[in-house]
Amino acid sequence: MSIAIALDGPAGAGKSSIAKRVAKALDYIYVDTGALYRAIGLAASRRGVEPAPSPEVDALLGSITVDLAFNESGEQVVLLDGEDVSGEIRTPEASMTASKISAVPAVRAYLLDLQRSMAKTHNVIMDGRDIGTVVLPDAQVKIFLTASPEARAERRCKELLEKGMDVNYEDVLRDVITRDYNDSHREIAPLKPAEDSVTVDTTELDFEQSVEAIISVIKEHL
Ligand code: C5P
Repeated sequence: MSIAIALDGPAGAGKSSIAKRVAKALDYIYVDTGALYRAIGLAASRRGVEPAPSPEVDALLGSITVDLAFNESGEQVVLLDGEDVSGEIRTPEASMTASKISAVPAVRAYLLDLQRSMAKTHNVIMDGRDIGTVVLPDAQVKIFLTASPEARAERRCKELLEKGMDVNYEDVLRDVITRDYNDSHREIAPLKPAEDSVTVDTTELDFEQSVEAIISVIKEHL
C-alpha cells in the first residue's frame, strides 16, 4: 500500500518548498494541488469566464483537460489541454482567480479523482487546503502548516521579487489575508486542520528548521 502525507495550510506557509525538500529526502512524489486550481483559474481567465458557480464554469470543465506530469528532475508540471502552464499560473492575479474558482463545488468535484489517483499509485506528500480533511482522509500523516499572515506575506513577497515580479509587501499581505478568508469561509472543503493533524507553526522557524520539524513529525507517525 502506498503512503500518503497530507500537508495543508494557508497561502505562503512554506508548504511547497518544504514539501519539495521532504519528498526528495523520502523519495516520495510531491503533489502541489494548488497548481490544479490555478490551471482551472487560468482556463477561465483565458476564456473570459467568471470564477463563480455558473453553467459557463460547468461548460468550461467539460471542455478542458488538466493533468499533472513530472519532468526529469521529478518536478511537477501542470498541463492545461496538454500545454505546460506551470510558469503562467504563478502570478498574483492567478493566485486570486484560483482562490475564487476553488470555492466552486463543480471545480472541487472535478479535481477530486485526479488527486486521489496520484496517491493510489505513488507514495506522496500532497499539499493543499483540504488534503487531510477531504481528499485523503486516510493519509498516514497529516500536518497543518501555518505561520502569521505577516511572516507569510514577507516570504511570498521575497519569492515574487526574486522572480522579477513588480510587487510590494502591503499588496501581498492584503492578498494573503483575502485568500485566507476565502479559503476558510467557503462552504465546501474549507481550510481547517484535520482533527487528527499535527500543527506546525513556522513563524519563528527558518527553512531548515521547518524541514526538520516536518521530518520529525513524519518519523513519529510512520
Ligand atoms: O496552494 P496555492 O496557493 O497554489 O493554491 C491556490 C489556491 O487554490 C488557494 O488560494 C486555494 O483557494 C485553492 N486550493 C484549494 N484546495 C487545495 C489547494 C489549493 O482550495 N487543495
